[in-house]
Amino acid sequence: MSNITGEEKRNLVIIGSGPAGLTSGIYAARADLHPLLYEGLISGGQLINATLIENYPGFPDGIQGMELMEKIKKQAIKFGADLRFSSIEKVDFLQYPFLLWDDNDIAISALSVIIATGSSPRLLGLPSEKEYLGYGVSTCATCDGYFYKGKVVAVVGGGDTAAIEAIYLANLASKVYIIHRRDQLRACTCNQKKIFNTPNIEVIWDSVVEEIKGETKGFTKNVNAIVLKNVKTNELKTINVDGVFIAIGHHPNTELFEGQLELTNDKYIKTIPGSTKTSVEGIFACGDVRDPIYKQAVIAAGSGAMAAIDAQKFLENFNF
Ligand SMILES: Cc1cc2nc3c(=O)[nH]c(=O)nc-3n(C[C@H](O)[C@H](O)[C@H](O)COP(=O)(O)OP(=O)(O)OC[C@H]3O[C@@H](n4cnc5c(N)ncnc54)[C@H](O)[C@@H]3O)c2cc1C
Repeated sequence: MSNITGEEKRNLVIIGSGPAGLTSGIYAARADLHPLLYEGLISGGQLINATLIENYPGFPDGIQGMELMEKIKKQAIKFGADLRFSSIEKVDFLQYPFLLWDDNDIAISALSVIIATGSSPRLLGLPSEKEYLGYGVSTCATCDGYFYKGKVVAVVGGGDTAAIEAIYLANLASKVYIIHRRDQLRACTCNQKKIFNTPNIEVIWDSVVEEIKGETKGFTKNVNAIVLKNVKTNELKTINVDGVFIAIGHHPNTELFEGQLELTNDKYIKTIPGSTKTSVEGIFACGDVRDPIYKQAVIAAGSGAMAAIDAQKFLENFNF
């Protein structure tokens, strides 16, 4: 480690405190790598915005997203992960040891880095959408579809994500509206066929969501309608729904790494299949930031474990 420069010298820096980052923290700490883990603005990651998680193994009665992340965080701290509630603002992976700067202007030099910065669902930008997120507004049918068994839902979007979400929901909900701002879907022909052949899916064309309506009951709230605007006629209409699924895509949180690592066309971090290795030796990526397909907590956690094991192997070449 003699040639490391910078304010602080670390074997391993983990960026992100969602299921991927914290799981890599547990594994790396148990392997005595003394990881420094930057939590970023969302301590606990996306799941802190989720209500009941019913598909994470080990919790047969489900667990609140916030509680699950508190438990995983506690486990990482217990084994010695050094958590820091701040963000990484700049990285230089073109020199070695790698250099990272945080938002307190602390420079860290690191022998190895695990990136677990996740992705963010694209939202419509309506105040009412923010108000009901987790209470009738969802960005994940696989996660929340179960709560709408026998109910009426709307899926917003017209691409493959929206089509797949709608087809999935049609098996659970009594009725699924697809709200699309154009007069034809962007989804592939095979998904379009499925949509048009599913009797309880109805597409509402040329329409955008103007507002999501709901009511507050004590400490909870729920959605009961959406107001749509026809983009051709400006006509407004209200339809009653119990849930709204926003399916207009995700964007991976990779702005920081542009020009430093190879990214896919959709800006996800490229990893070597079967590993978490990126285009730069010693930098690993796990969770949603490298996963345009599955986007599930258990998969993010699994790939976090992989990243720590890959980093451990890489760090075996050093004596510390
Ligand atoms: C409302 C909702 C409900 C969901 N429900 C379920 C469910 O029921 N079951 C399920 O399996 N999945 C569910 N998901 C999906 C699940 O949350 C994600 O797949 C999972 O959180 C991805 O984990 P991750 O660790 O890769 O990233 P994230 O959870 O996105 O965490 C990213 C982390 O990176 C940090 N970060 C970002 N940039 C920086 C930076 N510059 N410096 C430092 N830190 C940074 C953030 O602060 C955050 O801690 C849900 C998602 C949402 C939004």
